[in-house]
Amino acid sequence: MLNILLFGPPGAGKGTQSEKLIARYNLVHLSTGDIFRANIKGATELGILAKSYMDKGQLVPDEVTIRMLESEVNKNPNAKGFIFDGFPRTQAQAEALDNLLKSKSVSITLMLALEVEEEELRKRLLLRGKDSGRPDDQNPDVIQKRIDVYNNETSPVKHFYTSQGKYKGINGIGEIEEIFNLLCVEIDSAK
Ligand code: AMP
Repeated sequence: MLNILLFGPPGAGKGTQSEKLIARYNLVHLSTGDIFRANIKGATELGILAKSYMDKGQLVPDEVTIRMLESEVNKNPNAKGFIFDGFPRTQAQAEALDNLLKSKSVSITLMLALEVEEEELRKRLLLRGKDSGRPDDQNPDVIQKRIDVYNNETSPVKHFYTSQGKYKGINGIGEIEEIFNLLCVEIDSAK
């Protein structure tokens, strides 16, 4: 099983690259942000709860996020593998994911981290906000909060995978196709 973590700050290009990777490797795409947004659209209980955090640029609590992610993984028993996009974002989420995969006798193959500097992220997110309709991409304070949350709570998750020898940093600035090729090289050599 090929299980890829696509990691990086908001605006690094995780969603764009995930779309291309699932097509190339025939994987199931699990984006916690997308799942929360679908729940907001459907006005589910989970969506209403998630929105109260997302609108402020804060993380949805671990307990809720982990339960949701586990149920999504369990919905795909025949998957050839997964791309986890936007998960894990905390140490507790990383540990929960490891335990879940261990219970299925599989593991994370590789963490691919898209590296983009902050100034570029702020620009990209504001630009995306013009088309995406995402409220959290339209407010500079919320964008900054998300970058701060990434630096303080999410970035340290790298160490968890570095210590397992699974971390790979990738330059996330350049042409989409060029970055995609860098990701594929890493995946092909880890398979
Ligand atoms: P994203 O689409 O990955 O940029 O996520 C948008 C928002 O959804 C984040 O700012 C968080 O509020 C929430 N979110 C997405 N994934 C997670 C996660 N793994 N843990 C907690 N909150 C999350």
